[in-house]
Amino acid sequence: MAALADLVLPRTCAGCALPGRVLCGRCASLLARPRLATPRRVPWGFPPTVAAGAYRGPVRPAILAFKERGRAELARPLGTALALSVVAVSRGVPERDGRLVLVPVPSSRAALRIRGRDHVRELTRSAVAELRAAGLPVAEARLLRRRGRVQDSAALSAAQRRANLAGTFELDPRCRRLSAGALLILVDDVVTSGATLTEAAAVLTGAAGPDAPPVLAAVVAATPRLPG
Ligand SMILES: [Zn+2]
Repeated sequence: MAALADLVLPRTCAGCALPGRVLCGRCASLLARPRLATPRRVPWGFPPTVAAGAYRGPVRPAILAFKERGRAELARPLGTALALSVVAVSRGVPERDGRLVLVPVPSSRAALRIRGRDHVRELTRSAVAELRAAGLPVAEARLLRRRGRVQDSAALSAAQRRANLAGTFELDPRCRRLSAGALLILVDDVVTSGATLTEAAAVLTGAAGPDAPPVLAAVVAATPRLPG
């Protein structure tokens, strides 16, 4: 399908508008520099987070084209960037059994309605495919959802309940059992203030228990600390 579209539609790079691939080599290279993300004011509880590049220059229009303008074919190169971040953030953490579980940060219902798709899940699936092809034991688990009605918290521990009531996210009741022993890695497109990842990590950490490995996060791009 992608090959056919390439024949029929003129392609331009979503980053710099050069004719050719959906993301040219030069723009893709801007998303091959995994670094620890450091928001300007690091929120307390911000999980260790790696971004594949800085959210500036051609990276911005590339991510916006994917997220807001429906260029779904960017899931592949942006998923590759996310996969790089996942590998970088998980390196050096002694996982229990080597499994990596990617937890997509859920978009708000309003955003899903407007976009008509869940772009973070598309990114996650693309990254999972890439990591599996590289032989890594990785899976996606939709452990979080946006809070709607207050969840019945009778079965939750005090810590879970606190995390559950704190704000935007709650554990998806369909996935009450977290993957014990696996490394949980939150995934999202862009990190800016870090507030979203911090909240999401708090919910997972509260549910995972004291002996669980730390919750990590991987994103495609991070808003740079300094303008420019
Ligand atoms: Zn380009």
